[in-house]
Amino acid sequence: MKLVENFELGLDAPICLTWELTYACNLECAHCLSSSGRRDPRELSTEQCEAVIDELQRMQVFYVNIGGGEPTVRPDFWHLVEYAVAHDVGVKFSTNGVRLTPERARWLAGSDYVDVQISLDGATAEVNDRVRGTGSYDTAITALRNLHDAGFRDAKLSVVCTRENIGQLDDFKAIADRFGATLRLTRLRPSGRGADVWDELHPLPEQQRELYEWLLAHGDGVLTGDSFFHLAAFGPEDGSGALPGLNLCGAGRVVCLIDPIGDVYACPFAIHDQFLAGNLLADGGFDRVWKTSALFQELREPQTGGACSGCAHYDSCRGGCMAAKFFTGLPLDGPDPECVQGYGESALAGERTIPAVGQDHSRSAPSRNAPVLLTLSRRRPDSDLAPPVSACAESPLAGFAPN
Ligand code: SF4
Ligand code: SF4
Repeated sequence: MKLVENFELGLDAPICLTWELTYACNLECAHCLSSSGRRDPRELSTEQCEAVIDELQRMQVFYVNIGGGEPTVRPDFWHLVEYAVAHDVGVKFSTNGVRLTPERARWLAGSDYVDVQISLDGATAEVNDRVRGTGSYDTAITALRNLHDAGFRDAKLSVVCTRENIGQLDDFKAIADRFGATLRLTRLRPSGRGADVWDELHPLPEQQRELYEWLLAHGDGVLTGDSFFHLAAFGPEDGSGALPGLNLCGAGRVVCLIDPIGDVYACPFAIHDQFLAGNLLADGGFDRVWKTSALFQELREPQTGGACSGCAHYDSCRGGCMAAKFFTGLPLDGPDPECVQGYGESALAGERTIPAVGQDHSRSAPSRNAPVLLTLSRRRPDSDLAPPVSACAESPLAGFAPN
């Protein structure tokens, strides 16, 4: 059986487990996938987090991707990192760099099994700060420098690809190289606040092509996880143009999310009741949710191509990202909204209903750390249904590579 077939059936434990420790964040990025900002008062306590780690150890989850929110603002964050590593659970954490002082960087350089991922969404302060907030570029670069100077090897520079930064791919690579880091490119999904700005920020069709060509030329040294398997449809019909990385949606099969209150979702980009599998505080804990939840069983069933089944590129593209379809109001068995064969555009132009916002921990609406996208408008979190979307037809293992 091929590796990918094993993945489709689901595994005894997730290989790409993301754990968002807190919804609290010092920033309030315009495209935050988890709509973070405010701490949730029901956040798991230190003891509860330790119990989760104990369970991950029993399940032999060797690595966990920790994020948020900004996880380092939790007072017990460094303790939990130490606790995880001491219990055979390696940690990769994502941060905007706010707590990565020279001293902390030295501590990290001396830790085994800890990987650090710094978020940066523009290769210049102008592009980055427009979506991540004033000063956030300098914070991230300082963190990268501190890690480098401390001798921390192979930090990750994590970039969400947008309409505004696709032209900076070479510059991102140069920044990563300068600090001995590895570039990680991820896809902008319309999840969380990302749904509010997706129309403005998601790459245009010609930029998708530019990204695909760039990844073909440079992809070997760049991590992409499962972000861009839909771009394989730019290549020949025999699938030989596929990019490195996981080329299927692993939601509920090999991917899942634990949120700050212990809710377990199928994917970090699918924080919505429809993809909620259970809560790990209930009897049986995370193990039971992962192995027996009805949602995960369903997601592990063989998938049909639906409206995509007649497409010659289906074997490599597989209809794209479930979360991207869901949050743009498209059917889950149809084409991805950014289908590179153009079927997403016609689907977006048709009748659709954008799902209501699920979790929203934004501090205020429509605040961001100014300056923000001037044309930005947010959907009201308390509305049952978002306003209808105009027919704007302008147009998911963190760092995991299966081999
Ligand atoms: S029609 Fe479906 S399978 Fe074909 S390229 Fe578009 S999203 Fe992918
Ligand atoms: S393809 Fe999309 S829905 Fe599936 S695991 Fe990746 S981000 Fe999540």
